[in-house]
Amino acid sequence: MSTATLPDKSGHFGKFGGMFVPETLMTPLLDLEAAYIAARKDPAFQEELDDLLMNFCGRPTPLYFAERLTEKLGGAKIYFKREDLLHTGAHKINNAIGQILLAKRLGKKRIIAETGAGQHGVATATVCARFGMECRVYMGSVDMERQSLNVARMRLMGAEVVGVTAGQATLKEAVNEAMRDWVASVENTHYILGSALGAHPFPMMVRDFHRVIGLEAREQILAKEGRLPDLLVACVGGGSNAIGLFHPFLEDTEVRMMGVEAGGDGIIPERHAARFQGGKLGVLQGTKTWLLADDDGQIELTHSVSAGLDYAAIGPEHAYLQDVGRAEYDYATDDEALKAFKEISSIEGILPALETSHGLAYVLKTAGKMSKDEIIICNMSGRGDKDVETAAKYLL
Ligand SMILES: *Cc1c(COP(=O)(O)O)cnc(C)c1O
Repeated sequence: MSTATLPDKSGHFGKFGGMFVPETLMTPLLDLEAAYIAARKDPAFQEELDDLLMNFCGRPTPLYFAERLTEKLGGAKIYFKREDLLHTGAHKINNAIGQILLAKRLGKKRIIAETGAGQHGVATATVCARFGMECRVYMGSVDMERQSLNVARMRLMGAEVVGVTAGQATLKEAVNEAMRDWVASVENTHYILGSALGAHPFPMMVRDFHRVIGLEAREQILAKEGRLPDLLVACVGGGSNAIGLFHPFLEDTEVRMMGVEAGGDGIIPERHAARFQGGKLGVLQGTKTWLLADDDGQIELTHSVSAGLDYAAIGPEHAYLQDVGRAEYDYATDDEALKAFKEISSIEGILPALETSHGLAYVLKTAGKMSKDEIIICNMSGRGDKDVETAAKYLL
């Protein structure tokens, strides 16, 4: 089967993905899948989505030629896909706006979401305010402390932010709490999941709402260069910004794809979040994929300087693309990402998010080894304003 037509009917990408959920969620997930497939085919849905993407979110985003960086590295031409310029400061709103339209179509009145760094929570609170929906966001209490500005943003937009103190008190626990809520409230509540993760149909649906990144980039690079790029680069937490960029290029086998995970302090147990570096095949939060677990299958602690990449499992479609050799995955350490943050800020006048800086670290290592007639597109998944305090602590 072609890589571009997955998942199959049962929500699998090869041996990855699927629907590993409590009985009570099976019917709601199947209903959601049916509603989504109907919406995808409905021109009125697409029209409303396109209008909101343009006028509320700020699409299309530019494909920007990073001239000074290209010159400095002396190799491939480097372009940035500027998702950092979107409303709320990251790619996450592409998915949040798509899912709230779907929730409206399903007649749901209440929205729940999980958030790590707070970017997805902010995007969800934003679209809930826009559509007058009740909104509750689950967030680890440790993350609430680290990202207090985003907590305030959500509350200002009328969302209720609920702190989760279980376990490591970060993203994984917030997802557990959101799932628990959903099992009890699914009649009137839609769960806006924030990455290409979880049970089917979420990985497919979230990917589709982010495909606009790759579709625009494809058209833009053809207009600017008259040909496709040689290499796509994106950071990978759950994998939504990366799959959004990659997916429209999957059939173009001459285009290489590189996802960059969080290497934290290096590949030492509990000190990183690079699932392809020694991860195990298992099930976490609804999907079968590579995850960081010990020999007993217990999920390990993870670490990254960027909260948005700090998660023990990777989206199932990335697991599949790596398995079949269509995409490659590397990692950048905290130090490399921080160095890239500083370098891109001072050379290009763009403060990238710390998540994004992982992809940029790979570009810094690689572009100089490529030839001048080659082209890289790196996804600028978000802006670095939220990370200024962290970066300043390390760098200034
Ligand atoms: C959330 C986030 C990520 C990581 O999530 P993906 O689903 O892997 O894209 C990356 N960059 C930014 C700016 C984010 O906010």
